[in-house]
Amino acid sequence: MKKIIFFICVFLLNLDSKPIDFSLYKLDSTSPISDNSPALLIISGIQGDEPGGFNATSIFIKHYKIHNGNVWVVPNLNQYSILKNNRGIYGDMNRKFADLSESDPEYQIIQNIKNIILNDNIVRILHLHDGSGFYREKYINNLLNENRWGNCSIIDQNTLFTYDDLNTEVSKIVEHINENLLNELHRYRVRNTNTSQGDKEQEKSLTYFATLNKKMAFANEASKSLPLNQRVYYHLLAIEAMLKNMDISFERDFNLDIKTINSLINDKDMNIVINNIIEIPLHNIKSTLNFFPIQKDDVSFYSNTPIVWLFEDNEVFRIKNGNKNIVYLNPFFIDFDYSLKNVSLVIDGNEIEVPIGTIIPLKESFLIPPLGYRVNVIGFSKQNIKNEVDIEIKRSDLMDKFAIDKANTKFRIEFYKQEKNKPDKFAGMIIINFSNDK
Ligand SMILES: [Zn+2]
Repeated sequence: MKKIIFFICVFLLNLDSKPIDFSLYKLDSTSPISDNSPALLIISGIQGDEPGGFNATSIFIKHYKIHNGNVWVVPNLNQYSILKNNRGIYGDMNRKFADLSESDPEYQIIQNIKNIILNDNIVRILHLHDGSGFYREKYINNLLNENRWGNCSIIDQNTLFTYDDLNTEVSKIVEHINENLLNELHRYRVRNTNTSQGDKEQEKSLTYFATLNKKMAFANEASKSLPLNQRVYYHLLAIEAMLKNMDISFERDFNLDIKTINSLINDKDMNIVINNIIEIPLHNIKSTLNFFPIQKDDVSFYSNTPIVWLFEDNEVFRIKNGNKNIVYLNPFFIDFDYSLKNVSLVIDGNEIEVPIGTIIPLKESFLIPPLGYRVNVIGFSKQNIKNEVDIEIKRSDLMDKFAIDKANTKFRIEFYKQEKNKPDKFAGMIIINFSNDK
């Protein structure tokens, strides 16, 4: 039996102006990972304005299976700067791996990632970046020269303690990418920064820290001159070449081409689950949802897409996918109640029981039989009633402007717990989906 182990964390919102800890996903073919089983660590998002890297790892985590071997992925090392679409809100995080003051706001994040790098199982590290222009060994023009970082694969030195040949390994990555170029301009090069020969800047980098600790470390750069889907394409090629170098067999559930990558960046099934009693489909969602129930100071979430994030920003709540805006939630602050687990619904004439916090596809109509909770179908306007149970509701009974998606096919049903002489509490949401895509 092959198994993939996903460590999906539930993130508690650490509200504004603080760094946010990164996530670690372990794609291991066996569990637990055996003591001498070598693992690859892939890291992206150290700089918040380099979406090629963190979109590539997000797709990798979601759409690849590892059959024999161990791959650990940190997609969002600098999550706070990713949300701000900023290279580094607290300075360049990739210059914090030599000396760092304990008072640095990112001190703990750096200690945490260093501990993962130093884990005995980790033998190789692949660090993904988006770099400017296109690297060339000699000056050609302003965009193509020896000071540009785009489209090269990087090592800090040729060999690691005389036995591991970094140069041979990185050359195989470059060769694999170059066999799959979209355009001759994109041709990759090997770049050796010879960091120990006096490169004071590179000495402070993540890969050099790894190198000093006897880990084989590589960086892959995709050019910022390329559109996002092409950057992701080259990063995925680099990851696949590295897996082949390590004899780790894998499978992906899509064709590796830029059109398909585009659709995966805006994945149809992208969701977010909030406090375990709300699930919202994010694909094609409207830019703002109003009166959205939020439990003040106690918001948690997870998503099937690693770089989808929920955070508070100036009294509104926002959801981003990497550094792309998805939706603004104008909060309606209310206490949450977790007593409602399942709800009976009549969907197109058939009664079914569904867990609270799910998305239900239907064709024609739905009806909610009475239950001990108040029901509010958002956008239902036919009758002026407080509790919208026992009414057969069709799409035409619902107002477009209350749909959550741009196609006006998905609507919120909200459940409220009522207690005498107390304000109602929010008990969860179900989304009904009239569209053909489920
Ligand atoms: Zn970078």
